[in-house]
Amino acid sequence: MCRHLAYLGPATSLAALIFEGANSLERQSWAPTMMRQGGTVNVDGFGVGWFPAAPDEARADVGSEADAPLLYRRTGPIWNDHGFAEMSTVVGTRAALAAVRSATVGMPISEEACAPFRHGRWLFSHNGLLPGWPDSATRLIETLPTAALATSGATDSALLWAWLRARLDAGDPPASAVRDLVGAAAQIPGSRLNLLLTDGSTVVASTWTHSLFVQSAPGRLMVSSEPLDTAEGWTEVPDASLLVATRDEIDITPIHPAPSRGRL
Ligand code: GLN
Repeated sequence: MCRHLAYLGPATSLAALIFEGANSLERQSWAPTMMRQGGTVNVDGFGVGWFPAAPDEARADVGSEADAPLLYRRTGPIWNDHGFAEMSTVVGTRAALAAVRSATVGMPISEEACAPFRHGRWLFSHNGLLPGWPDSATRLIETLPTAALATSGATDSALLWAWLRARLDAGDPPASAVRDLVGAAAQIPGSRLNLLLTDGSTVVASTWTHSLFVQSAPGRLMVSSEPLDTAEGWTEVPDASLLVATRDEIDITPIHPAPSRGRL
């Protein structure tokens, strides 16, 4: 399954977020350690969405709210994009969401299928799958406004994003929208639903079968499928949880009820 991360904190470079650390996201694309039988490598594309900031501007308190996020997505393995590796050293941000992809069997390899998905200020990623998609998702699809369907791409993740986007557009609080989406999609047996959503000031994440870790320091938050380094301070988010976090606060609550699961 894919690996993803979200960062809120002092200005840093995309390179620091994606390439640094003994178990960086880039390394997780070819040597992930916690795939839980959901694939072996993450080579079917990658993406990063970020709120731009000058790298030397270390004002964590200001946030990144002024600008909409920028997006960079490619269909190949991240290690093969040498231009991105160079460019990322000079791109600054205080808030970003990045992912490396292992396409679920039967899903297209395309830029549109790579997370993050973007809508206004929102960036979204899904680590997991809906078994039997699209037929198994009929009930989810039926609840969607037609306009959301028209813009949804041809993957299970894009469908989940269309559902969530419709709820966010309707003004639902992001945390309850993510929680409700997990509840609805988990009705499909065997669903894996690690969702990750940010608007640059809040991160909302769910765990539903896949791993997720959090590391925090005053004014700084990192949420990641796997610890990015061997340093202390990574806390595993329990399965079936909803994480809602800002730069300074983390709230983790169980997602209830827990519908029946497929086997790992
Ligand atoms: N099912 C999604 C896709 O095909 C996500 C895959 C994953 O988490 N590996 O893109």
